[in-house]
Amino acid sequence: MRKTALIFFPAFDWAISPSHPEREERLLYTRDQIFEEGILDNPRIVEYKPRLAEIEDVERVHFCVPDVASQTTNAHLISAGSALKLGDALLNREIRNGFALVRPPGHHAMRVVHGNRGFCNINNEAILVEYLRFKYGIRRIAVVDTDVHHGDGTQDIFYHDPDVLVVSLHQDGRTLYPGSGFVDEAGGPGAYLKTINIPLPPGTTDEGFLKAWRRVIKPALEAFKPELVINSAGQDNHFTDPLANMRVSAAGYGKLTEELKPDLAVLEGGYAVETALPYVNLAILLALAGEDYSNVIEPQKRGTVLRQSEEIEQAIDRITGYWQEKLGREPPGKDELFGGKGLYLRSRSIYYDTDQIYEQQRESVEYCPDCPGLYQVESRAKKTWGDSRWIWGMSIPLYACPACQARAYEYWEKIIGKKNSGNGPDCFYLQDKKGNRYLREKG
Ligand SMILES: [Zn+2]
Ligand SMILES: [Zn+2]
Repeated sequence: MRKTALIFFPAFDWAISPSHPEREERLLYTRDQIFEEGILDNPRIVEYKPRLAEIEDVERVHFCVPDVASQTTNAHLISAGSALKLGDALLNREIRNGFALVRPPGHHAMRVVHGNRGFCNINNEAILVEYLRFKYGIRRIAVVDTDVHHGDGTQDIFYHDPDVLVVSLHQDGRTLYPGSGFVDEAGGPGAYLKTINIPLPPGTTDEGFLKAWRRVIKPALEAFKPELVINSAGQDNHFTDPLANMRVSAAGYGKLTEELKPDLAVLEGGYAVETALPYVNLAILLALAGEDYSNVIEPQKRGTVLRQSEEIEQAIDRITGYWQEKLGREPPGKDELFGGKGLYLRSRSIYYDTDQIYEQQRESVEYCPDCPGLYQVESRAKKTWGDSRWIWGMSIPLYACPACQARAYEYWEKIIGKKNSGNGPDCFYLQDKKGNRYLREKG
């Protein structure tokens, strides 16, 4: 019998500040609870030790400015590496599934990294996806993000990738950080409807959470047919969480896990360290192991019933109804979505709340009939307390056609040949996911 693996990494030496909600106590109560319940003696559960991710694993996903070492500590590399360790164990058929109970979290880290956003520097799940696809030749992976905050980093990284389905279930961005994750963010023209955002109203309970699963996520997964499902497991939808306004309980999370059956779960947020995290994490772990989690009841929940108002129910019906209709129809073709133009362009501003950085980006994706197409980004960032940065990056998709891959190197030679120090980007990047080559040149 293959077991459910667990990795604990509370990162004792990493915190944004001593009183910040993202600190090591987040995992200490969970660990006590798991020991007390004798979970590690359960024959269906096995503990693994963490390991470090390699620099290359990070470069496969991010343009870290100016480099990976400047944006990460050992804690970040161990948090990401723990996910990779479980990924290897899964693909080597040592385990049935796994849960990386790690921090720092990652789902707000986007493709370009100038600093910390929403407590995240590098995206653990994205690093896991690209590692598994590169190393084991898996093609289709689904990431289901159940954190209360929109998984905007994961969305950004896979926005143009038709082989990664990103589903985020979160509290409506009009009422919570990061203020995004609306239904019209549905993927670039080459990956349309491979991003599914389900913004739920504040006050949503287990019932609403599970309705979104039944009506949208389950049919979307059945249609996409992923080879692997990863859960970005944030526990801040809990009714006691101090940073958000939802009313989900450990039982709701347990039920969703039992239904979703993720191959790997990676911890994201959750800031009610005593009243939520020990219970939610335990329920998820038991559900992964196929064990009964009905006895995992939060003390605050005893004697109360968490109810949704009529208004909340109607809002959940509207959003799930929208997706049912959208996913039930044949989507427009890629040619039509590119609008007959050979290029998709997007300009936008990104704010880094933790590090107070303002970033301006211009992105382009080239239309290619044979592959997802070359991606380019130019990004300028200004720190409130510090200097400015300007970078340019190009990404060759993992399943690029040979013509696009060759053209990327031609561009690279040309752009590096023309670079003019002091009067152009500070740093140039070429990310070749297909060839597993990551080049970086100073401006
Ligand atoms: Zn969160
Ligand atoms: Zn191509």
